Amino acid sequence: MTLQIGILEGDDIGLEVVPETIKVMKAAAQKCGLSVNWHPVPIGMKAYKELGHTLPPGTLEKLDTLDGWVLGPIGHQAYPKGLPNAINPHPILRKHYDLFANIRPAKSYAGLPSIYNDVDLIIVRENNEGFPPDRNVFMGNGEFRPTPDMTIGIRVITRQGSRKVARAAFELARTRPRKTMTAVHKDTVFKLACGMFAEECRLMSKEYPDVTYNEVLVDTMAMKLVMKPQQFDVIVTTNTFGDILSDAAAGLVGGLGLAPGLSAGPDRAMAQATHGSAPDIAGKGIANPYAMIMSGQMLYAWLGHKHNEPKAVEAADLMEQAVEAVIREGKVLTGDLGGKASTREMGDAIAAKLA
Ligand code: ATP
Repeated sequence: MTLQIGILEGDDIGLEVVPETIKVMKAAAQKCGLSVNWHPVPIGMKAYKELGHTLPPGTLEKLDTLDGWVLGPIGHQAYPKGLPNAINPHPILRKHYDLFANIRPAKSYAGLPSIYNDVDLIIVRENNEGFPPDRNVFMGNGEFRPTPDMTIGIRVITRQGSRKVARAAFELARTRPRKTMTAVHKDTVFKLACGMFAEECRLMSKEYPDVTYNEVLVDTMAMKLVMKPQQFDVIVTTNTFGDILSDAAAGLVGGLGLAPGLSAGPDRAMAQATHGSAPDIAGKGIANPYAMIMSGQMLYAWLGHKHNEPKAVEAADLMEQAVEAVIREGKVLTGDLGGKASTREMGDAIAAKLA
């Protein structure tokens, strides 16, 4: 089969790390004979300047025709405020394609500066419910201010949403050597909302007797992650808890430049690094491309399993090996990893391993 993959560069460092990602993905595809059609799709500030919209008309129709895409970070904080054509496109993509599982690995590498050098965990974060006000209501906003001195925010947890993300996490845990799943919540306080999430995870665990299942309260989890992150394998949790814990996990293994991610739904997946658009370092050519490249690697693996295309799984394996080889050699690394290489030099070094 020929995979149809979109290229959405996003903003700021997205314009630097996405081209490196596509370069490496193309090299991996070529190496194992995987057929891919690439589709550049305008999005973000560049699209606003050129086409008058951060999510130009026709984008969703185009994405409908694709199997998945690489989305660079979106710097929506810098978009003009209050204009209907300068919206943050990201929540729209997540909702429209029901990208309910945000999968965020944290893996340490010996030789790289990090707090721990033996961590290998994955946080699976529910992506479309929870506290974020831009995605937990059909219309309007999940935060409102009835009086100048009071704000009310709502949190949405559904059985269906909890079940979907729990299943995705158990499926992932099943493929890993330790086969262990930890559900994180706070059902002692959020008795109904976290309670429902926990109930669904517990019920789902019955369908996965081969996976060792346990639960940890979110505050305890914060402590355990800091003290002994090696004990965790796959962690599933609700939206905001997952957002916070995954940044903490990234910090334990070397920072946001080392934090890839994939947002997956029933039909499509979106490679998207955990980090933001990092306007403070944009345009300098110093951003670490690892997180975006490994997000692309996750997309290949997901597409390979989804479409039963062994060449895509092979391309993912090759990409991982190439990245690990460059890290092991330690000669071409960006500044955040203790090296002096530019974004492009690191991308080139990884792609060269796939030649
Ligand atoms: P968002 O809210 O959109 O997630 P943020 O405000 O959390 O974004 P980031 O843009 O992720 O912030 O940046 C946080 C810090 O991490 C910044 O100092 C940034 O330079 C650094 N950073 C982020 N991504 C990278 C990267 N790929 N390489 C090197 N440094 C990075």
